[in-house]
Amino acid sequence: MDLIIVGGGPIGIACALEAEKNDLNYLILEKGCLVNSLYHYPTNMQFFSTSEKLELDNIPFISDKPKPQKREALEYYRRIATSKNINIHLFEEVSTIVTAENGKHRITSSKTNYEADNVIIATGFYDIPNYIHIPGEELPKVSHYYNDPHFYATQKTIVVGASNSAVDAALEIFRKGGEVTMVVRSPEIGERVKYWVRPDIVNRIKEGSIKAYFNSRLKEIKEDTVTLETPEGEEVLENDFVLLLTGYRPNFEFLKNIGIQLSEDGRKIPQYDEKTMETNIPGIYLAGVICGGVETHKWFIENSRVHAKMILDHISEKEKALPGR
Ligand code: FAD
Repeated sequence: MDLIIVGGGPIGIACALEAEKNDLNYLILEKGCLVNSLYHYPTNMQFFSTSEKLELDNIPFISDKPKPQKREALEYYRRIATSKNINIHLFEEVSTIVTAENGKHRITSSKTNYEADNVIIATGFYDIPNYIHIPGEELPKVSHYYNDPHFYATQKTIVVGASNSAVDAALEIFRKGGEVTMVVRSPEIGERVKYWVRPDIVNRIKEGSIKAYFNSRLKEIKEDTVTLETPEGEEVLENDFVLLLTGYRPNFEFLKNIGIQLSEDGRKIPQYDEKTMETNIPGIYLAGVICGGVETHKWFIENSRVHAKMILDHISEKEKALPGR
């Protein structure tokens, strides 16, 4: 096979569209459903990008809203995958990729093995939460993912974090009758919170509808309470549910096992050529948000969809140069 694409998110699909155009024999392996990360985003999630910036290969994404919602994006990417007959195996996870001396890559999945000349890793960052490692983090009332506000109606809910995900969850839960308390490490709500949402959360906190502890951290979670460390000392609050929305990280072990080098400055940026997206292993490429290391805010659909063309231009040049082509 010419190409295996690991990950069937928007950027994996963008790579498949480019592979089709270049007449390459390719397959996407996706461990979950189609656009699995997106499927697991909060029910009412609204993109910060306008619809045309989420488009792949100039296929129009029509939305009557300035910024589309998750449901519309699922429709859009699914329609692309089905109408373009994208070659994809769903619910098939890739565990290892080993490169042989002849330069071929052996890909082992949960179902079988493949051999490919090239591999694109477009596995995103949404599978692994940033754990905060405190007692009680493993309790069933604690989650690192937020889905729908209805679940939290009338419930005493702690939201840890102050970025977009945390702020969206806090506002939605408050508006569906949940009793929300935010616990924020920094002195204020994050600067990167969507500019049209920030005043809403700041004002809800100011008026006391949502309680917030700044410069504070969660110390322990128990069945019915949580303990906070605040500048005024320790506080114990009654509590029903805890949402730890402290971000997510790429699967660095997966990259390291393949042999991809990561920067050692704490940012863990994987090594790749900025023009071709090829990693330190010839024939293995990175695409999409995985490229940012721990800086998961750096890449998104808008600015990483271009990776597909950069990579496929490089691969098709190489393939054309092979004897017999
Ligand atoms: P993903 O969509 O994460 O796709 C990676 C895929 O790889 C997943 O489907 C996963 O299941 C699969 N996978 C992982 N490991 C394996 C494995 N070992 N084997 C097989 N498959 C595997 N971006 C924007 O441009 N605009 C926005 O407005 C925007 N809003 C966002 C809001 C939220 C709440 C979040 C969390 C993100 C948002 N983003 C936005 C970021 C955007 O969703 C991501 O940039 C986008 O999903 C990245 O696409 P991707 O294909 O690189 O990764």
